[in-house]
Amino acid sequence: MRQSAPEIHALGTAGAGHVLSLILSGQAKSRADLARISDLSRATIAQRLGVLFDSGLLHEASETQASGGRPARVLKLNQAFGVALVADIGESRIRVAATDLGPTILAERLGTLGVGSGPVPILTWIAAQFRELLAEIGRPAAEVLGIGLSLPAPVDHAAGQVVGPSVMTGWDHFDVPGWFAGEYAAPVFAENDVRLRTLAEHRQFWPGESQLVFIKAGTGIGSGVITDGRMHRGARGAAGDIGHIQLRDADAPLCRCGKLGCVEAYAAGWAIARDLRARGFDARDARDVMALVERNRPEAISLVRQAGRVLGEVAADVVSVLNPSIIVIGGTLSRAGEHLLAGVRELVYQRCLPLATQDLRIVAARSGEGAGLLGAAWLVIDARLQPHEVDRLIARPGPG
Ligand SMILES: [Zn+2]
Repeated sequence: MRQSAPEIHALGTAGAGHVLSLILSGQAKSRADLARISDLSRATIAQRLGVLFDSGLLHEASETQASGGRPARVLKLNQAFGVALVADIGESRIRVAATDLGPTILAERLGTLGVGSGPVPILTWIAAQFRELLAEIGRPAAEVLGIGLSLPAPVDHAAGQVVGPSVMTGWDHFDVPGWFAGEYAAPVFAENDVRLRTLAEHRQFWPGESQLVFIKAGTGIGSGVITDGRMHRGARGAAGDIGHIQLRDADAPLCRCGKLGCVEAYAAGWAIARDLRARGFDARDARDVMALVERNRPEAISLVRQAGRVLGEVAADVVSVLNPSIIVIGGTLSRAGEHLLAGVRELVYQRCLPLATQDLRIVAARSGEGAGLLGAAWLVIDARLQPHEVDRLIARPGPG
């Protein structure tokens, strides 16, 4: 249905967010694409684009086409529109960064606080770094679109709180968003670290895969699930916790969670390090294990290959339930490459139905150490650039 001019005027900023979402999802690159895939008239599209151009969120740039034809006008998000402040809290160190909406990291710092220090010293340190990062890139607090935190614990995403027991002593139900509320008008988002690494890997390297499972094999083991292109969290945010699935309990090793025979107790970096110590090596975590693998120690390689088969056992169950098109294996142990992946493939292809495995790929992760920061930035960007949020954002002057 075509709209008359007064109707278009009455729309105001409403609907601009929907047009932006078609561009951000990659469905539309130009005005012509928008006219083709949406049921909006050219006049309505022009009005909504005008609102987006005026807000500074979107711009139109000349881009030479691969075919060598005349340059096309393509619609692009203005990555400089706002800033995300992000922190990746690890067990023994913290990374903080300011990113644009790409996201690209604009400035970054590394701190060596242990997560056991508790929430107040850690959040105080992070807040101070955020101020310095903003000063370094010359952007005011008003341009901050959101704060994103990656935490090594189960997280209630909606509340932005750690829930349940974890390595994060003292964080359980601590009001993380409330900590930043006085300083920034922007919302605060918190999420589990493995889930954010899943998000970063998916967006950066596999955006076309709508069904993806990421397995983090490091000192601990966890997983993240993308279904229909979206992060799957589960009813209480506990989805993907594969590290403590019990494989067997007779003569099974003790897990650090207190149960017997968990996946972690066989295949985590700490468990392999335990087995290496029993063979006379000095090893405490996944990094130590990898140092021995990289020195071609057969004992370490053999244990990593065995860990791959244990991961394969649980991955086979995951494939049977979720039928992903790709399994990405990340974490420190994934640096062992085929030593780890071979066992995963072996068990998955042996145990799953051909229908589930015929197009399945099992690959090593590509993202590097900045994945937690980029995942946290995606968390902020996804939330703030949802259609209804965009309509609100551009209905008032300035971001934030
Ligand atoms: Zn366990």
